[in-house]
Amino acid sequence: MFADDIFPKLEFTEEELEAKYPARQLPAGAMVTRICPSPTGFMHIGGVYAALICERIAHQTGGVFYLRIEDTDRKREVAGADAIIVNAFNAFGIQLDEGEVTLGTEQGAYGPYRQSNRGNIYDVYIHKLLAQDLAYPCFCSVEDLDELRKRQEAIKVRPGYYGEYATCRHRSADEVANFLASGKEYIIRFKSRGDYSKRVVIEDAIRGTLNMPENDQDIIIRKADGLPTYHLAHAVDDHLMRTTHVLRADEWLPSIPLHVQLFQSLGWQIPVYGHIAPIEKMEGSSRRKLSKRKDPEASVEFYYKEGYPIPALVEYMLNLANSNFEDWRVSHPTTDYKEFPLSLDRIGKSGALFDFVKLANISQNIIGSYTPEETYQHSLTWAKQYDPELASEMEQQKDYCLAIFNIEREAVKTRKDLSKWADLRNSIGYFFDTEFAKLSIDWSEVFSSLDQKDAPILVSKFLETYDPADTKEAWFEKLKAVAVSCGYSDNIKEYKKDPGTFKGHVGDVAKLLRVALAGKNQSPDLSEVMRVMGTDRTTQRLQAIPNM
Ligand code: GLU
Repeated sequence: MFADDIFPKLEFTEEELEAKYPARQLPAGAMVTRICPSPTGFMHIGGVYAALICERIAHQTGGVFYLRIEDTDRKREVAGADAIIVNAFNAFGIQLDEGEVTLGTEQGAYGPYRQSNRGNIYDVYIHKLLAQDLAYPCFCSVEDLDELRKRQEAIKVRPGYYGEYATCRHRSADEVANFLASGKEYIIRFKSRGDYSKRVVIEDAIRGTLNMPENDQDIIIRKADGLPTYHLAHAVDDHLMRTTHVLRADEWLPSIPLHVQLFQSLGWQIPVYGHIAPIEKMEGSSRRKLSKRKDPEASVEFYYKEGYPIPALVEYMLNLANSNFEDWRVSHPTTDYKEFPLSLDRIGKSGALFDFVKLANISQNIIGSYTPEETYQHSLTWAKQYDPELASEMEQQKDYCLAIFNIEREAVKTRKDLSKWADLRNSIGYFFDTEFAKLSIDWSEVFSSLDQKDAPILVSKFLETYDPADTKEAWFEKLKAVAVSCGYSDNIKEYKKDPGTFKGHVGDVAKLLRVALAGKNQSPDLSEVMRVMGTDRTTQRLQAIPNM
């Protein structure tokens, strides 16, 4: 009713739209998936996780994966939000086929891919629902709805706009005609034929069989600003864009009965739905969803800033999605992750717990597998943005950096002290004199096990025989000899048996040298550190050990 009064002129007919967006010509079994963020200026890591799942599912079946910007809620829109979305997919290497593949331009034959540019399309179907008495204009004000809610609370009935409580559903044609003629503001509601006492059963590709009460709510499908709500918009878009699999966050699970009803009312085939459980974290002994408000790690920015290599994040998220990925990775250590057959029914039904220890582990292995040149390039890219001072040192001294990153490369156990680039300064900063000068070194631990008066003697004896060409073993033999000559044991076990006989042991002497060179008692193999630093710098730092 009133379809033509409300929409006297439509830009398209249904037939034209069907022809404009024909069935896709794809191989049998190909899946069409989409990611549909709202441009809120915040990219949740869960959004990237969902996108990765959608992208894999589409591409591993020879299908299509597209980006649709869901911006019908204009109040939530933030300038620059598209860039955050598009850049995130680019950064994560999540390949889009259609939509805003590159910032500012759309690609693909099923557009526009931004909902606010599709108002004239939605109107065709809202008109259709009105004409079939499956929708009606609603003139209730915010106050009316507030009053309804209070009334329902008082008489303890299910809240919402349905059945006898759906005031405008029961208005006479005259009343509606008068309201429309008077220019009274209205929205349009779906006229549900559902019965809450009946059940709807649907197969969710991730959750399995869902059995829920039918929807009987007359939800809003078109707002006063002329744009549709998510419910209607997604149905129209997923139909016309020929989506086969609607894989989305499980916050939409309760809306399934409504969405099924919308598809049926519009006479369309219902796509396969799959609801992805959110990424969770532990808080005390309980789990909860990563929160945009409370958890910095909910935002992709956090991962950029911490400098986790993207491949590590991708691998980690695949692990979260399909726990058998880990075994697959062990048996396919160098295979592209795109070869892994991601399966929807292996995705967990309950939240995936984000485990930073595991992420760090994956990340360490990935960084450990980089050549010095790769390590240099990746870390420099990060440092340019997040630690420009270190970046400028690195740029000025590339060869020095390559030598640093080469330390312990050939060892049986490759060096794995870096799990993210935010650790870079701590890991290599001390190699650069200007950065080293900024460190405030805590000598107390060194001099708690080594007599400070011995320091200059140990250093000068060490330097007398130091030869950068020595092997690691020869270097250590010399260090032991220096220790012994000053009354320190060259054997920790021996020292522990009879500590009274010695001033300390060779480990204490090594610690003195290590702290003098690295500013802390942790570094890769000291003989290699010295060789890379060069004899001049080594000498200078050792001689700068504070004297009493
Ligand atoms: N715009 C919706 C959201 O951001 C998308 C849900 C969907 O994928 O259908 O939650």
